[in-house]
Amino acid sequence: MSIVNHLIHGELTVGTGRTADVFNPSTGEVSKQVALADRATMQQAIDSAKSAFPAWRKTPPAKRAQVMFRFKQLLEDHEAAISKLISEEHGKTLEDAAGELKRGIENVEFACGAPQILKGEYSRNVGPNIDAWSDLQPIGVVAGITPFNFPAMVPLWMYPLAIVCGNCFILKPSERDPSSTLYIAQLLQEAGLPKGVLNVVHGDKEAVDALIEAPEVKALSFVGSTPIAEYIYSEGTKRGKRVQALGGAKNHAVLMPDADLDNAVSALMGAAYGSCGERCMAISVAVCVGDQIADALIEKLTPQIKALKIGAGTNCGLDMGPLVTAAARDKVKGYIDAGVAQGARLVVDGRDLVVSGNENGYFVGGTLFDKVTPEMTIYTDEIFGPVLCIVRVGSLEQAMQLINDHEYGNGTCIFTRDGEAAHLFCDEIEVGMVGVNVPLPVPVSYHSFGGWKRSLFGDLHAYGPDGVRFYTRKKAVTQRWPQRASHEAAQFAFPSNN
Ligand code: NAD
Repeated sequence: MSIVNHLIHGELTVGTGRTADVFNPSTGEVSKQVALADRATMQQAIDSAKSAFPAWRKTPPAKRAQVMFRFKQLLEDHEAAISKLISEEHGKTLEDAAGELKRGIENVEFACGAPQILKGEYSRNVGPNIDAWSDLQPIGVVAGITPFNFPAMVPLWMYPLAIVCGNCFILKPSERDPSSTLYIAQLLQEAGLPKGVLNVVHGDKEAVDALIEAPEVKALSFVGSTPIAEYIYSEGTKRGKRVQALGGAKNHAVLMPDADLDNAVSALMGAAYGSCGERCMAISVAVCVGDQIADALIEKLTPQIKALKIGAGTNCGLDMGPLVTAAARDKVKGYIDAGVAQGARLVVDGRDLVVSGNENGYFVGGTLFDKVTPEMTIYTDEIFGPVLCIVRVGSLEQAMQLINDHEYGNGTCIFTRDGEAAHLFCDEIEVGMVGVNVPLPVPVSYHSFGGWKRSLFGDLHAYGPDGVRFYTRKKAVTQRWPQRASHEAAQFAFPSNN
């Protein structure tokens, strides 16, 4: 059986650690093994990155950007192969996999602007014969730890930008679907990246702990579940590292009585059931303002949920594939059981779905609950599956209070034709990413991505302008060249222009 290797100093290696099974979630079969790094293997990657840093740091930003231009072209040329690898190990449909890759490529495009991004600021004559400038310098060796649900896009949020900023990067991808991530990193080598500037090291807690504890690793970017985000943030910052840790979510869509219902239904179908609900920006709660819009929504959603085309992600023309693992499937079914036991009305039940020809795949059908209340676990917890909950409220203010009281604050949206309601919502909602008639408001690459509350630990959001700040250190230089033959006496008062 083939092994998904590490990429250390430009070479594929199995390292000295353990291995784990990689599954095809559409069939339930083990398709590959993935190497899991022990501390010694991780140290090789750290040493490699450290040795590559001095030369890469001195490489002109324009030359670093040229590598990214070639990388972008290679990513586009290999879209079909990458999408297939994603789909085989994650389970999402081929079209959805291609979509995530395209959003990842946007981040490569942003990184292509390295010379512009890193220009810094300059002020002449801040004092007599004194000029000042501030410079954005790299941090050194930095690392990223990424989740299973976007094996192409989320790593591309991180390392293209970190690398054009002059850092060397160690990526620890999810061990559940590692192949596409490795394949993409190999394309970056092919684009001309020097050895050691990007190392990919697979693994689990042991590998992550080695990164947290290594003094050579100066910054950690994490994307994954909230408990692990909190762990990495607290352990990393304790050791003086710069950390940004993006966590879980529970994203609400508010439906106002004046919403364009047909468009809202289409938007909710994609946002709740696309990628089998395994998106950190998935809509998992529809908050209906008034019973009339709730009843109308259920009437329109129900037949569409029952008609979802579900099957092996690698088949074309489907709406939804399986969940990523048997454990994920069982967890989602457990939440549906709990919703029923806690008194929610199960309108569409996806628990008994069997996909003919793929009986052992990890499938759960689209599920809809009505009359969900805030104390139910299907409301409080991130289910990360194809389950949409309807909560009924009496006013926009109640809808906003509900959202603001939730522990997560990643994404949210409002469906309305009322500009005043939309403006109030955007202004006062305590969530990091907000959509108005846009169900998945994932910012484009030149804005930054990040939630509020327990959806993000750290001060800066991911990618875009915040990403540049995260992956650089500012240095302010004040420079004076005294006039020839002039001599100034020592000054003991603090220097100023006054
Ligand atoms: P996860 O937290 O289980 O794993 C994420 C990463 O952490 C993986 O690389 C994994 O190997 C590593 N890891 C797992 N257990 C660890 C441990 N005990 N110690 C150290 N490292 C450990 O998350 P997942 O299941 O891969 O991804 C789904 C989660 O990610 C969801 O909660 C989802 O909301 C979240 N997510 C958030 C965003 C965001 O931008 N906020 C984006 C994508 C996914």
